[in-house]
Formats: sequence, structure tokens, C-alpha cells
Amino acid sequence: MGVEQTLGNNIIVTSLDKVVNWSRSRSMWPMTFGLACCAIEMMAAGAARFDLDRLGVLFRASPRQADLIIIAGTVTKKMLPVIKTVYEQMPEPRYVIAMGACACSGGIFDTYSVVQGIDEELPVDVYVPGCPPRPEGLLYGLAKLQEKIMKERNSFGAAIGIGERISEA
Ligand code: SF4
Repeated sequence: MGVEQTLGNNIIVTSLDKVVNWSRSRSMWPMTFGLACCAIEMMAAGAARFDLDRLGVLFRASPRQADLIIIAGTVTKKMLPVIKTVYEQMPEPRYVIAMGACACSGGIFDTYSVVQGIDEELPVDVYVPGCPPRPEGLLYGLAKLQEKIMKERNSFGAAIGIGERISEA
């Protein structure tokens, strides 16, 4: 069914910010990137049973094509510089989901070698708790991120170089 048949003689009134936010939130492309056991749940979420593709969430093999990084697993201090490099290679606007107890807070690994929460280093948008969270947990986290993106202001202005994008904390 085409737009003409759907809308008939009606019109849609909206703001450019809403259009930008809607298109961004419905086409989140995460980095193909996993760290530990939580990454298996993330992979399951992307596979046929949960099928993230139907939500417009398509994993990308390059940070330059990704606007979301899901920190899925234990973040060791040795791995941290790699994570930061990957994050810095992603174009703006970019988003971060901390998936699982390890990424959120270090989890059970209260040791010298493990970062006690990726939010010490990256601006986390959504936390998905659990050890590990099930794929449904990640789906819920993605839905919360969609909600957060829909509330952003001046998205269009920032895209054309006027002012800053304003996001809720
Ligand atoms: S939160 Fe649990 S399942 Fe996830 S990486 Fe840590 S130990 Fe593994």
C-alpha cells in the first residue's frame, strides 16, 4: 500500500526534529562487537528467534557505519583502549548500551583488572541489568533507547550545523 492510498486527502503535520528522531530511532545500527558471555545473548537477539532486523537494528562490521555500541560483557582494563578507539571512530550521533552486570558495574569481577562499569569511560544511554540479561532484556533496552532518541531536541538543527543536539540525561 503506497503513501497515497494510506493518506488519501489527509496531510501530516510534524516537526523536522520528530522526523529525524523517528528515522534515527527506527534504524539503529550497532557495532558487531562483543566482549564476553553477554555477547552470546546479544547474538541470540540478532538471530532468527528474536530477529532484531525487524526493528531496523542491523549489526555493522565497521564503526564508521554504526551509531550504537552495545558493551556486552566484562570490560577489562587491557581491552578498554580498544573499546574507546572503536567508539571514537563512530560518527555522531552515537549511543551506548551497557549490557549486563559486568558492563554496568563490573559485576562479580571486583578485581584490579576489570573496569567497574563502562560509564566510567563512555556516556552510557541505557543500562540493561542481569547476568546475563536475556535477549528480551536487550530488546527492552533498545525500546528505551528509542524512547530516549524520540525526546531529543534540535536534532534537525544539529544535523545542518545549527546549535547542539539536546538529549535528556
Ligand atoms: S554479566 Fe554475567 S553473563 Fe554478562 S559478561 Fe558478566 S559474567 Fe558474563
